[in-house]
Amino acid sequence: MKESDTAVSQISLMKQKLHAAKLALDDINNDRNDKLKTLIQFISHLSLACKGQNLELDNKLAKLRHHMHNFEQIDEALPELIDIERLLKTQYNHTMSRLEDSRLGLTRVIRQIQRINSVPDKLKKEITYFKQDLSKPFHTVWEYIPKVEKLIFFYEEILKQEISGTDNYDILPQHIQLARELAAKIAEVEFRKDQRDQILVLKEVLLGDIHVNGLLEAYQTILSLLLDNIAREKTASQDFLFALNDALSIVRDVVNNTYNNSQRSEQLKGQLNKEINLRVNNADSIVVDINDLSELKTQLTVQLSSLRDALSRKEALEQREQAILRKSIESMRKELNAMSNEANNYKEKLFEHQKLNLLDPLTQLSNRTALEDRMEQEYRNHVRYKTPLWIAVTDIDHFKSINDNFGHSTGDKTLQVIAMALKNSLRDSEFVARYGGEEFVLLLPDITDEHISLMLNRVREKIKNIPFKFKNQRITVTLSIGAAQVMENETLEEAFERADAALYQAKNNGRDRVVIDI
Ligand code: GH3
Ligand code: MG
Ligand code: MG
Repeated sequence: MKESDTAVSQISLMKQKLHAAKLALDDINNDRNDKLKTLIQFISHLSLACKGQNLELDNKLAKLRHHMHNFEQIDEALPELIDIERLLKTQYNHTMSRLEDSRLGLTRVIRQIQRINSVPDKLKKEITYFKQDLSKPFHTVWEYIPKVEKLIFFYEEILKQEISGTDNYDILPQHIQLARELAAKIAEVEFRKDQRDQILVLKEVLLGDIHVNGLLEAYQTILSLLLDNIAREKTASQDFLFALNDALSIVRDVVNNTYNNSQRSEQLKGQLNKEINLRVNNADSIVVDINDLSELKTQLTVQLSSLRDALSRKEALEQREQAILRKSIESMRKELNAMSNEANNYKEKLFEHQKLNLLDPLTQLSNRTALEDRMEQEYRNHVRYKTPLWIAVTDIDHFKSINDNFGHSTGDKTLQVIAMALKNSLRDSEFVARYGGEEFVLLLPDITDEHISLMLNRVREKIKNIPFKFKNQRITVTLSIGAAQVMENETLEEAFERADAALYQAKNNGRDRVVIDI
């Protein structure tokens, strides 16, 4: 009995233990299932995050998510996992190589940016660091994005710089050449008095440290000044033509009126003449036909009174005619006077213009166009009268240093003083023109071989002795002169070439001298 009781109690104990063990196992199972579920959910979400990179991978992952959803089919998902693992590996390699391509692409772009000269130094440094940073490979897309953002920042900065500093264009030698040529051209063109200050400022700008925008502005300003002048010129000639036209139509009206009036008067005069003749004829017949004296007297008195009447009407008509004619002539004279005043004005303007077109505005010496005219004239005289003709070319020595040391406007004033001195040292028959910059040409007729050197050296000495004082500094300005006489069968242009070569020689021989080509 005791044994069986013991057995019963042992069995009951074991039952209890078994029950407890079952409960514990259930707990473990539940816990494992919960964890597995969480894990499956996580994998599901993770697989969704990978979506969109590769279609095959997307399909496989969708299938996997489906199997995992039905917990019981999880075993079926196992073979899929192997495929997915393979696809994930391929995808990873693909992404890495794409990232590497992108990194190389960024490096190429940054190298291009480094070639832009106008980038400020600070930004240049930043770009260099950035390029060094780019030498390390990317591991994830997230590393790539900030690099792209940085690159955009560089572009923005450079763009801002380019837009704000448009005058930072590099000035090229061609631009400087253009500016100098424009300065020389505007020196040759005559501008109105009120435009001259503006032109002088423009010239200073063009001969100074020019920048591209300044050059463009200068071109624009000069063009508009020229256009304005053309427009004014056109208006002046148009005004003159209109005035001329008005005057002509008034004269035409006057002539027409006079013609009409005189036709009408001619008719009236014809009638009056007829009447006068009639009265005279009547008087004749009365004298012949009538014998009775008193009758004769009466009849003649009638005829004579009609005759007087006709004659006085004729006289009145003639007086009126004359008055009309006088008036017509008077108004025509007035019109003609006005017209000739207008024409004189226009002629004066034209003459002034022509004169100005032949003068160099800075020095008021004759310009190159005037020189060419005078050369032709002197050459004709030389050929015709066999008189000697010399041409001399002179150039101020080291003139550039005056501009460089004392400024362009001092240079301009120096040119004006020298030009005046040159002009004053010549006779009336001699001629000087500003040939360009600081070069002058002299035409010297009627000077003998013995005198030419003397004369030119006197001019040279005269200029050398001008007491220039710049910034309280006494400066001596000298000339080099080359001269040649027009030889038989030689043109003046050929002699000019020889004079120019002589000038070149004077410069080479040490300047401040006269060289005569013989
Ligand atoms: P060289 O003795 O060899 O003639 O030397 P240079 O310096 O006189 O000769 P260069 O031809 O090198 O320079 C001429 C200078 O004359 C350069 C130019 O700026 C200046 N120049 C030309 N026209 C004008 C002008 O109208 N006004 C001023 N101020 N300067 C001018
Ligand atoms: Mg010179
Ligand atoms: Mg020169």
